[in-house]
Amino acid sequence: MAMPADNIFLKIISKDIPAKIVHEDDRCLAFHDIGPKAPVHVLIIPKTVIRTAADIAPEHAELVGHLFVVAARIAQQLGLSDGYRLVVNCGDRGGQTVPHLHLHLMGGRDFSWPPG
Ligand code: 5GP
Repeated sequence: MAMPADNIFLKIISKDIPAKIVHEDDRCLAFHDIGPKAPVHVLIIPKTVIRTAADIAPEHAELVGHLFVVAARIAQQLGLSDGYRLVVNCGDRGGQTVPHLHLHLMGGRDFSWPPG
């Protein structure tokens, strides 16, 4: 899988490209997806580049855990008390289009299983 280190999310982190940011701290950024697939669709990304979920290494464990902590907090803030979907697409066959690890937080509608 040929995935360059430079990617659109790095430009959002550096504020070279605008985004509707809902959370930022020293380790991660969360912002509304530009093409929402649900009434609420937020992306939570680490500020350091991990290209795919397959690249997650033991030293990333705390950072990846932090993404989930932030996702839970955002879901609560956005009123998703009746449930939501967290998704990580990995690689070409997983439907990943941006080569920078991201957690999709989607809510505000029902979700079916299995996903397509
Ligand atoms: P993936 O398909 O890699 O799992 O998810 C990438 C997501 O990034 C898609 O849902 C897509 O809509 C979103 N996305 C791509 N480019 C931009 C952008 O420039 N700004 C924002 N806010 N979202 C983007």
